[in-house]
Amino acid sequence: MSPQVVHNVSFHGVGAPGPEREPGEHDYWVSRDSFLRILDACAARPEVRLSFDDGNESDVAIALPALVERGLTADFFVIAGRIDTPGNVSAEGVRALVAAGMGVGTHGLGHRAWPDVPDTELRAELTDARTAIAETAGRPVDSAACPFGAYDRRILGRLRALGYRRVYTSDRRPAAGEAWLQARFSVLATDTVDSFRTAVFAHRGPARRLRDTAVGAVKRWR
Ligand SMILES: [Zn+2]
Repeated sequence: MSPQVVHNVSFHGVGAPGPEREPGEHDYWVSRDSFLRILDACAARPEVRLSFDDGNESDVAIALPALVERGLTADFFVIAGRIDTPGNVSAEGVRALVAAGMGVGTHGLGHRAWPDVPDTELRAELTDARTAIAETAGRPVDSAACPFGAYDRRILGRLRALGYRRVYTSDRRPAAGEAWLQARFSVLATDTVDSFRTAVFAHRGPARRLRDTAVGAVKRWR
């Protein structure tokens, strides 16, 4: 049975990062040690759902074996335009994720904040990228994670019209397990296992958490 309230936890790169591709990117890279500790803290929590954004090569080199070792699964949101480029997951790596039972979703074509992308270029980000990732993975792609956690009414409307079954943000709050829009907690470079536990598992009671989720949804649609 799927838990009513879930804590979506997202990682980016793990280990030593390469040159920063966008300002602030390194704020989201975690050391291998920190990653494993946080993963262990998540492993005992059935209400946690794990995901990885950006399609870094550490997804396959570090995260995949650590997940398999713990009997965990995760969704990997890869950037179509970066597959098979240095520092990023290869096409073979994407297939290795699928073969190991992991989910693969889209994080767009060029890691652009979707609300800033004009209508004329949105097809490349939302449709072409999805098709390319599906062809690489050898299976349909029906979930998306918004780059930089950025979205607005136009983007959500397009994603719905395109038939995405689940869309992930970075709004740092719990989510209703079956909701279409899923907020996530991004793990930060500065997080320790303790700060992570406090941020994600600090209990305010399930009723209050669900209410926060509902209020957030209303605000976003204004
Ligand atoms: Zn990203």
